[in-house]
Amino acid sequence: MDRQECLSYLRNVATFELVAECKETRARAGLLHTAHGTVETPVFMPVGTQGTVKGLTQRDLADELDVRILLANTYHLYLRPGHELIRRMGGLHQFMSWPRAILTDSGGYQVFSLSGLRKITDGGVTFQSHLDGDRHVFTPESTVDVQMALGSDVMMVLDECPEYPVSHEYARESMERTLAWARAAFLHFRGKIAGQNTGQSLFPIVQGSMFPDLRRQCAEQVVALEADGYAIGGLSVGEPRPLSLEMVEATEPVLPSTRPRYAMGVGMPEELPEYVARGIDLMDCVLPSRNARNGCLFTSQGRVIIKHTRYKDDPRPVDEACGCYTCRTYSRAYLRHLFQAGEISYAVLATRHNIHRYLDIMREIRHAIVLGQFPKYLKAVRTVPVEVE
Ligand SMILES: [Zn+2]
Repeated sequence: MDRQECLSYLRNVATFELVAECKETRARAGLLHTAHGTVETPVFMPVGTQGTVKGLTQRDLADELDVRILLANTYHLYLRPGHELIRRMGGLHQFMSWPRAILTDSGGYQVFSLSGLRKITDGGVTFQSHLDGDRHVFTPESTVDVQMALGSDVMMVLDECPEYPVSHEYARESMERTLAWARAAFLHFRGKIAGQNTGQSLFPIVQGSMFPDLRRQCAEQVVALEADGYAIGGLSVGEPRPLSLEMVEATEPVLPSTRPRYAMGVGMPEELPEYVARGIDLMDCVLPSRNARNGCLFTSQGRVIIKHTRYKDDPRPVDEACGCYTCRTYSRAYLRHLFQAGEISYAVLATRHNIHRYLDIMREIRHAIVLGQFPKYLKAVRTVPVEVE
């Protein structure tokens, strides 16, 4: 491959460029270049489980919220409408009319959440669909094939995500299986793309439950795969928060600084800067959208639980510091009324605000890193109360 070809190849897989690093913490600002655009990091990825972020249109996501990368769930899309149908429709970007970047998980996390309905073997995992009870098998190879059919920019390897707590012995066994699956997935992926440019990257996942020694060992082994990026999985499974951060601290120094690091399934708004301070570049979580629908709105002054009587005649926006459409247009009193009345528009407006808030936090974080003021920012946000006072 000549230099020009090499550069164009690099532009078509997820390549990472470091822009600034914090001198006191492990925080960094970067650019993740994908075949579907460049993503400023650190970044929060809204979750579009079924190929849609519940309550929002792609126009809302792209034009108003300026989302650059979304997450979609392989498990759900595999079961319905099916990855082969999506492939025939031109891939997930075309199917859902989303021209920007997409990251897909491997489906493993959803399968492992179906405890009772699944069986793990060294070859993969057999499970029953939550929709109709049909039996299916996910293997390290088949989950790569499904994600290649979807055409996501960043794909994840099949991993086992143990629940919390588990014994050290089980965690080791499970971590070894995850590693063997990662190697099998990479072998399969590299064999499939040989000689062609699919524009897709595959990230392996560090597991090891809440044991720093296992996390380190797993990280050392996945680094040998020389991937375009690395994920830290198995967090947010019910463990105390300081423990999740400790696991990131155990893992991160082993991962190459030239590659993006993705903490899967995190976190609360106040946790985002904490993960970034520990060297994380990508995060995703259903919280902003799910909590929005349940009446919990995140603001720069803490949470607003919209059903509270105190908001029934409150003329102020949800967050006076927020520039989203919801905050520019509606009062807390009106949103509370929509929530109490069970109106669909409540979910739409609340989700729009919460996602905007998460993206604002990420913009503030990135700005602070670039200006060399992240430690000061971190100190300030740690004093914000959990709930609006
Ligand atoms: Zn807002």
